[in-house]
Amino acid sequence: MNRVVKRTWLMALFICLLLGGLGWFLFDYTVSAPKWIGSAGSSYVHAGTVGFGSITDRSGDLLLEIGDAKSYSQDPATRASTMHWLGDRQGNISAPVISNYAADMSGYNVVNGVYDFSGLGGQMELTVSSRVQNVAMEALAGRKGTVAVYNYKTGEILCAVTGPTYDPDNLPDLTGESYEGVFLNRFTQSAYVPGSIFKVVTTAAALDCVPDILDKTFRCDGIYPYGEERVTCEKAHGTLDLKGALAHSCNCAFAQISELVGKKNMTAYVKKFGLTQSVHFDGITTAKGNYDVSNTAQVSFAWSCIGQYTDLINPCRFMTFMGSIAGGGVGAEPYIVSRVSSGGKQVYAAETKKTDRIVSAQVAKTLTQYLENNVKSIYGAGNFPGLTVCAKSGTSQLGGGKTSNAMFAGFVADEAYPLAFIVVVENGGYGANTCVPVISRVLAECKQVLDGE
Ligand SMILES: [Zn+2]
Repeated sequence: MNRVVKRTWLMALFICLLLGGLGWFLFDYTVSAPKWIGSAGSSYVHAGTVGFGSITDRSGDLLLEIGDAKSYSQDPATRASTMHWLGDRQGNISAPVISNYAADMSGYNVVNGVYDFSGLGGQMELTVSSRVQNVAMEALAGRKGTVAVYNYKTGEILCAVTGPTYDPDNLPDLTGESYEGVFLNRFTQSAYVPGSIFKVVTTAAALDCVPDILDKTFRCDGIYPYGEERVTCEKAHGTLDLKGALAHSCNCAFAQISELVGKKNMTAYVKKFGLTQSVHFDGITTAKGNYDVSNTAQVSFAWSCIGQYTDLINPCRFMTFMGSIAGGGVGAEPYIVSRVSSGGKQVYAAETKKTDRIVSAQVAKTLTQYLENNVKSIYGAGNFPGLTVCAKSGTSQLGGGKTSNAMFAGFVADEAYPLAFIVVVENGGYGANTCVPVISRVLAECKQVLDGE
């Protein structure tokens, strides 16, 4: 009797272990199998045993076909300009967007696994235009940096290139200095010192929290002292109001504006604008930014409001911020995959996700006027024929004798072309001089592409 009881208990224990293990497996399978399909070792995606499918741009131009092998676009320029989204051949550059939808592409479902009845494979359509990508790459002209444009009403990314890049079908020697950081997608994975494009953030804060800001003027003698330390401008700007301070990018005026806003408010606005937070879309999590004035002297706080000190911004995040101003305080979250189908059936379609409101419609309107004034009075509206461009340049100082990074961010205010953008040219020197010719070409190409749709 004793032995029987013992065996019964033992049997019960085995059954529990078996059921527990089975339950765990089923749970893990259901949750993780779609991810396993897209993993680096998955034969479905990388050896293409089931004819995984094809990826096109917004115009239907083929960017990548994954079958028995990976074949990229026929056009060498397109191969180079889109590789940081599609991955390379060696596995140095990953393609999180493709992995994210691999299960959808391959017709995976929990019951049948990967079993495509049609033999058609999957199709993924990206929001980017290879035409704009190629123009942006050409305009970067071998320099390091990123150029990105997105539709702030829908969220579609029309262009997001990163330099340096190379043709994956014509692998160069990547060891030279010109290929430094070549595996990085600078649009999503970088965080840069923003320089004066950050003055847009400080202006937004001042417009929102300093009641009589529009009546105030600021004196610039080229130097604004803080005891032994100082904030400086390249020349004395004289007396400026807020609009003039932004247009002339006057550091001394912004030091005075920073005092009116105050550390506590500034920190709260940076948080509210989401400026240091990652952007999430299509399986991508962008780099975080940095804004920390918790233990700073007043002079460092002033520099932080000028976009120097320890400030860092991710290009995708700052472009989204510009999109929210353009949209009257509410923009759209960016995305790059517009639809996925499998076996001829649509299995995913992107939907526009609005951002939280970051500023009131009134503040957004005033900022838009200021940024338009920047282009008209400083950068030259003639650089953007047929477009109402609103923007701010930045020349972010890096220290250590390095040439500054050139930055330029803004948007188009026309109903037909709701585009926000960012340009970063590493060690490019003066922001406007370097970046205006780049974004001028890219926006003109965007306009043509949108006109043709
Ligand atoms: Zn000044």
